[in-house]
Amino acid sequence: MNSDDFRRHGHELVDWIAEYLEHSDRYPVLSRVRPRDIVNALPRDAPEDPEPFAEIMRDFERILVPGLTHWNHPGFMAYFAITGSAPGVLADFLSAALNQQAMLWRTSPAATELEEVTLGWLRRLVGLPDAFEGVIYDTASIATMHAIVAAREAAVADVRAKGLARADVPPLAVYCSDQTHSSIDKAVIAVGLGHESLRKIPSNDRFEMRADLLREAIGRDLAQGVLPIAVVPTVGTTSTTSIDPVNDIADICAEHRVWMHVDAAYGGAAAMLPSHRHMLAGAERADSLVINPHKWLFTPFDLSAFYSRRMDVMRAAFTLTPEYLQTTEAGSVRNLMDTGVQLGRRFRALKLWMILRTYGARQLRALLAEHIRLAACLAAWIDAHPDFERLAPVPLSVVCFRWNPRALRLTEAQLDAANERLVQLVNESGEIFLSATRLRGRLTVRVAIGHIRTTEAHVQRVWHLLLQSSSQLNPTG
Ligand code: PLP
Repeated sequence: MNSDDFRRHGHELVDWIAEYLEHSDRYPVLSRVRPRDIVNALPRDAPEDPEPFAEIMRDFERILVPGLTHWNHPGFMAYFAITGSAPGVLADFLSAALNQQAMLWRTSPAATELEEVTLGWLRRLVGLPDAFEGVIYDTASIATMHAIVAAREAAVADVRAKGLARADVPPLAVYCSDQTHSSIDKAVIAVGLGHESLRKIPSNDRFEMRADLLREAIGRDLAQGVLPIAVVPTVGTTSTTSIDPVNDIADICAEHRVWMHVDAAYGGAAAMLPSHRHMLAGAERADSLVINPHKWLFTPFDLSAFYSRRMDVMRAAFTLTPEYLQTTEAGSVRNLMDTGVQLGRRFRALKLWMILRTYGARQLRALLAEHIRLAACLAAWIDAHPDFERLAPVPLSVVCFRWNPRALRLTEAQLDAANERLVQLVNESGEIFLSATRLRGRLTVRVAIGHIRTTEAHVQRVWHLLLQSSSQLNPTG
């Protein structure tokens, strides 16, 4: 592709993207393709000869676009609703062109230092102290896995050299709540602690970890010769966005010298709001913490901000410089490869920098506050309706509830089936995409608000669709 062709196709593509970002709601939000439709529509072998870009784009439109579930659609209210905002899209475009690989400071001084600057900006915006050093990973799952490695490094002498299969290393334990994201499970599996080393502490009726039961569990383990190495409280759990009592948990961690890793992947951004700053109370005492700008800060997937007050421990676990990567600056600069498994890393800070500058903190706060307001509106409509039942508090922008017409006296099994059908009916509309979860065994409908173009009209629409679809349910039939 010569530069004239690049310009031409680039301009066409930018036009396509601009149209898409403005009108993504012209597509059904949840893809309607069936499994293997995409595979079957594409040739088995790569082309031997060049193909015109226009033809590739035609296939993109014809075959791939129908197979897209539109996360950048204002009716996307499943899981956590996210946004690939325009400045973030431009930054990723530029990042691909620059093709920076910031393993060493010298392989990209700009990417290395911009990462430090933008993560410093974000840290101050959410009110974390300067003692936290930041590094960007792709996802919170990977960030958390690194935190567990650091906790292991801090707790077990010589673990890097000698591993865990030794007579002088007791069984290790990690603690989280029964609401914690499955990435913690995967982290203990990946780090070789074994899934059984993870203790899921029961949550209270607000789905917050019970600090008293955490204390008991740690005491029980210590009495049996098990070594507690990490506790993972969550600020904004996946199902209900509940906030664990981080301060109480920090007291327990300090008492037992256990690493505290705060999973603020979703909820951390809300601490930008003075009204919600308290949600990170106690997090300043964490050993590490993760916030996902790709969840609720309008950043195209993927960008996860990991912070630690003990990055020296992370470096002790991971610094390993083969001959070919030795540099004269070593010691006087940050080499990002020293803070994790990954060697190469792309220029992700560019998109966070462009987003923070393009919107400015005031507008970002206003967007987050609006999402929280919209969730509160929906919660109020649900509470006022006799046939709907809210199943969790709404501390942030996710509402959990179910259809439950009390007069019909439905069994739990009937309610589960009816609510599953309700989600299916709403999703068939193509206008809104919802997902479900289970809370205390009950099938729970979730409405997650977080896309930049989601307005009150969209929230009214989802409520209307829920009412209309529930009138079609026939749970006893
Ligand atoms: N933590 C929480 C609370 C989550 O809800 C999720 C995903 O939704 C994760 C961590 C994992 O995020 P990622 O996809 O960045 O690994």
